[in-house]
Amino acid sequence: MTTNTITDNLPQGIHIVAKPIGPRCNLDCEYCFYLGKQALFPKGADYVMPDEVLQAYITKYITLQPTPVVEFVWQGGEPTLLGLDFHKKVIELQRPFTGQREISNSLQTNGILLNDE
Ligand code: SF4
Repeated sequence: MTTNTITDNLPQGIHIVAKPIGPRCNLDCEYCFYLGKQALFPKGADYVMPDEVLQAYITKYITLQPTPVVEFVWQGGEPTLLGLDFHKKVIELQRPFTGQREISNSLQTNGILLNDE
């Protein structure tokens, strides 16, 4: 015998944590699981997700999901090191899809660079 839950008939989406500045951070926590990943990048890398990758990621992440709500999560390293303009660009790239979907953005941050803006 099988049991149905309330979510059985709803379309299932995927959930990705994007790291658009790789492992770069403005802190150096002893317990950090991720800073050491800098060794995986070429010397001199800036770790920043290129514009064409950002655009492709946003477009495909939205259009390939069947869910009415699409949730973005931005992490690092420290994603605020990318500056406010990067995050405004994210919103602009998502904007064409907002009539079709509800889009949300979450930011995992250490808070050091947060300000009123
Ligand atoms: S703030 Fe987060 S990402 Fe930065 S060093 Fe500490 S644990 Fe790692």
